[in-house]
Amino acid sequence: MKFDVSSEIHLAIREVVGKGKHVLHEPNFLGNEYEYLKNCLDQGHVSATGEYIDKFEKSVANYLGAKHAIAVVNGTAALHLALAVSGVSRDEEVLIPGLTFVATANAVSYCGANPHLIDISPSTLGIDPHKLRLHLQEHSIMKNNLSVNRKTGKAIRAIVPMHTFGHPVEMVELLSVAKDFNLVVIEDAAESLGSTLNGQHSGTFGDFGIISFNGNKIITTGGGGMVITQNDGLANKVRHISATAKIQHPWKFDHDSIGYNYRMPNLNAALGLAQIEILEDRVHKKRRLYAEYAKSFSRVDGVSLFSEPTNARSNYWLQTLILDEKVMGMRDLIIEKLIRDDIFVRSAWNIISDLIPYKNVYSGELKVAHNLSRRIINIPSSPQIMVD
Ligand SMILES: *Cc1c(COP(=O)(O)O)cnc(C)c1O
Repeated sequence: MKFDVSSEIHLAIREVVGKGKHVLHEPNFLGNEYEYLKNCLDQGHVSATGEYIDKFEKSVANYLGAKHAIAVVNGTAALHLALAVSGVSRDEEVLIPGLTFVATANAVSYCGANPHLIDISPSTLGIDPHKLRLHLQEHSIMKNNLSVNRKTGKAIRAIVPMHTFGHPVEMVELLSVAKDFNLVVIEDAAESLGSTLNGQHSGTFGDFGIISFNGNKIITTGGGGMVITQNDGLANKVRHISATAKIQHPWKFDHDSIGYNYRMPNLNAALGLAQIEILEDRVHKKRRLYAEYAKSFSRVDGVSLFSEPTNARSNYWLQTLILDEKVMGMRDLIIEKLIRDDIFVRSAWNIISDLIPYKNVYSGELKVAHNLSRRIINIPSSPQIMVD
């Protein structure tokens, strides 16, 4: 019989998930969600005031071992705030991975700055620190203690490493490059809540980290995000501009800059507090799910299941298949066949420079990003697939 990679993948997934319909990633609300939400309604505190905002922020900071966690309306707003407070401004550049969700690039654009793309590593799926260093040595020059792009003449202010599908990137090496080129480091940890590197949580290595609590992330507040930092001054600035830059006063309305209305409502924070209580359980189940898929896919030729990088504990937010080059041309057929059978899978994002608004951004060579973006398939990843 002819080798049929699409049937083999189909069988290997069914062996793990069983019968029926399976979405890519589903939330669940089996803890204190109803009780906390009812309290909000009973107390009439649904919006900017209420006990849950503070409680949720403290519990996330405590979980991460971080000094400050500031709850905001979504992960994109968290990125925007971190970039703005880092001083990223008009006609500067920010280094981001070539393969990431569009929000990473959009937040840079909101500051009037330009994304500057760096290739990824096949072992982490995030920015390759070695390529980054070589790229900056060749393409930038130090002026007034700032790295400046030799071609565009623009200052390169910051770097936003992203922990793809929950897998921590090589932060130790990236921090060393950032130090040598005087870059602010903002970790896009939107997908990696619960993931650690050398025992330290993603999002706590850089000057800032950001998390997303969108409905498809490992835990959710409906919509929501958080800015993480260890620095008191930076935390105060984020709080201030996320709340319309209002000067604290019992009754006067005075604002000292153009701020944003990005604070998370109490209702969402109540949901978040209940969700953080079940986070570790979800991480454990997702790691068990990885082990089940690994067993099942060990027998399948032409495809491999992506494993966490060395020294990392990944939250395995999305399980990831990587097609061998010899079958990568079949990606769309494989995806369509699985979806027809109610197994919801998806391809990776297009690389940023393939998107219409980012066609002309400055970019290093993106060989790995380009290649992997066409070989990745994310498969059903809900922790609920694993029963207790
Ligand atoms: C989800 C996500 C974001 C944005 O988070 P939202 O809460 O949806 O705004 C940013 N970056 C990455 C990599 C993401 O996956």
